[in-house]
Amino acid sequence: MSRPCPCASTKTYAACCEPFLIGRAQPETAEQLMRSRFSAYALGKADYLAATTCAEERAKLDIEELGRYVRAVKCITLKVLATEAGGAADETGTVTFHAKLQINGKRMLHREKSRFVREEGRWAYVDGDTN
Ligand SMILES: [Zn+2]
Repeated sequence: MSRPCPCASTKTYAACCEPFLIGRAQPETAEQLMRSRFSAYALGKADYLAATTCAEERAKLDIEELGRYVRAVKCITLKVLATEAGGAADETGTVTFHAKLQINGKRMLHREKSRFVREEGRWAYVDGDTN
């Protein structure tokens, strides 16, 4: 399959986020995890979103509500604006991005600075500032 990746990387889905979403590979950087989570939103994969949220925040997640949100939101495109740390040798990192979304027919621009932490060697999403 050569469809473009939903994360707007310009790579194909198979060469970009798919290996992460199907569990064949682990993101090496916080940005890769962030992109794969955007693709999970785009493809309605709430399980992946839950699995890649850090343990403390995952415990607070309402999986049904997350599932409803994922089905309601249409992800149009993603632009990563900045990253801090989050590399292969880091334990924490941030990714600042713009996501064009459509919710209930209304387009919106979501801007977020997301925080990531490494848990047992794997990148996980902590939370984000949306100001
Ligand atoms: Zn991707």
